[in-house]
Amino acid sequence: MLVKFWGVRGSVPSGGKETAGVGGNTTCLEIRCGDELIVIDTGTGARNLGKELMKRLPLKGRIFYTHVHWDHIQGMPFFAPMYIKGNQFEIYGGTSLPMTIEDVLKRQMTPPCFPVKIDIMQSSLRFHDLRPGDVVRGDNYKLTLLGLYHPDGSYAYKIESGGRSLVFATDVEPLKDNKLDASLLKFAEGVDFLIYDAQYTEDEYFGRNGHFPRIGWGHSTMPEAVRISKTAGVKNLILFHHDPTHDDNFIGNIEKESRGLFPNSAAAYEGMEIDLGSPTPAKSMFD
Ligand SMILES: [Zn+2]
Ligand SMILES: [Zn+2]
Repeated sequence: MLVKFWGVRGSVPSGGKETAGVGGNTTCLEIRCGDELIVIDTGTGARNLGKELMKRLPLKGRIFYTHVHWDHIQGMPFFAPMYIKGNQFEIYGGTSLPMTIEDVLKRQMTPPCFPVKIDIMQSSLRFHDLRPGDVVRGDNYKLTLLGLYHPDGSYAYKIESGGRSLVFATDVEPLKDNKLDASLLKFAEGVDFLIYDAQYTEDEYFGRNGHFPRIGWGHSTMPEAVRISKTAGVKNLILFHHDPTHDDNFIGNIEKESRGLFPNSAAAYEGMEIDLGSPTPAKSMFD
């Protein structure tokens, strides 16, 4: 299983030279299990992934949405392979909304907020609504999901392939009263890689830096990501969903602090690749 990060930022894209190292695009992951293509979320990182995939037509793949907040769907209208006849995408998502994933993605491409409708896309798009407990199997992988604590809900995905395992859990807030989510701990138990929401520092989360507290905004912190990794016995931790106000230096410092607490950890950056066939501690862009 190979993983490549095309967007690692949370909330809103954050371009500029201060963020150019880590990258400013929002959530998008490309996962390969043998010759099977999986995409998780189409935040703005999906535009660059699409550009790369256009070199390998025709395409067949599955796209899984953690949830439908803007930063996770906004790149879909700019994902070029969807416009090309002959490509086939199976699209999966859900969460707690009383709407289908198809409704939400279609509504994103309607006036007055968007100039063209989804109907102009020439690829085959088939939509599937997922619920916790569902299992999706490929020839070379098994995918399962878990509901996370986040406004409007979000899904964590676990992918198991060739004896290796990965959990992608972003857009998740610590539970109240310092409790750990028992079902998440079970879901992530002993996985090779946990990719986890570490958007805020504890000072930001609790409002100890003189700014508005971020409690209830749906995101976690690096110390919480480390606590979950240690308790669940995961082998490697990737810090994800970086705050748009955190520049490269700031994220480098969070990573350094994280490695002091959990040596096999690294901050995600655009272009980062993980080969789960030979798990080694995640390589940092700051090393
Ligand atoms: Zn998000
Ligand atoms: Zn969200």
